[in-house]
Amino acid sequence: MPSCREITALVSMGMDKQLGFKQRLAVRLHLMICSNCRKFRRQTQFMRQAGQGYLAHLQAQSRKKD
Ligand SMILES: [Zn+2]
Repeated sequence: MPSCREITALVSMGMDKQLGFKQRLAVRLHLMICSNCRKFRRQTQFMRQAGQGYLAHLQAQSRKKD
């Protein structure tokens, strides 16, 4: 079984690129049994969405100036 450290690394990696089948499976299985990593994934997704929202906001603002 992969450790929490490995799973969190895979989770953040999976935000940027598609993981392999085995990696996705390992993450999914681990998240079923580990609430800490579930929490980590939720927070990472939230931070990412917040970051993207901010970026979109900045882009919209710079477009207004043109
Ligand atoms: Zn874990």
